[in-house]
Amino acid sequence: MSTTPTKTTVTPRIAVLAIQGDYDAHAAALRDAGAETVLVRKPEELATIDGLIIPGGESTTFLKFLARDGFLNALQDFVRQKPTFGTCAGCILLAKEVRNPPQESLAVLDATVERNAYGRQIDSAILEAETGLAGGPLEMVFIRAPRIVKTGPAVEVLALRDGFPVLIRQGHILAATFHPELSSDRRVHRLFVDLVRAARQ
Ligand code: GLN
Repeated sequence: MSTTPTKTTVTPRIAVLAIQGDYDAHAAALRDAGAETVLVRKPEELATIDGLIIPGGESTTFLKFLARDGFLNALQDFVRQKPTFGTCAGCILLAKEVRNPPQESLAVLDATVERNAYGRQIDSAILEAETGLAGGPLEMVFIRAPRIVKTGPAVEVLALRDGFPVLIRQGHILAATFHPELSSDRRVHRLFVDLVRAARQ
């Protein structure tokens, strides 16, 4: 019997964009899900990684930071080629169209996203719902969440809240309007690690 590991057992190297937001919680979740993790803060650091998480935070703050050193263009090139998972503000950055108000984005995900769409009183919530993932209801933590109001034909909807998609996939791109890193359930991060493994093959 060969002792060479099969490709599916190779540990993928996944980065978290560590400009702002809860990147440490994402890194911990990725490690739990079987990835080697690194934090990236410079465009040149994108060269050595297999996948990337763009975390939640404030999308306008991300945009200000990314405007420097050609980071936005480098990130756009990366996302076109390699698996990327955007959560909350990260989902806003990936979307083709952003509303409330309109703002610049990487425009790689065929979706229209409305920022801060749940209003002030119910701007944060913890819900449980069945999703496209096996293993029963999934806890979903929403914090000043955006709403995905439109998706293109290449987008697969994996979970809904009040009839609107909250977890979607378009090929090697995954996006959630909630914060899976804040729950102990690692199914969403495992799904992303599996996407990264599949893309490496
Ligand atoms: N409200 C934020 C925005 O519009 C997103 C909130 C979050 O990432 N938790 O960018």
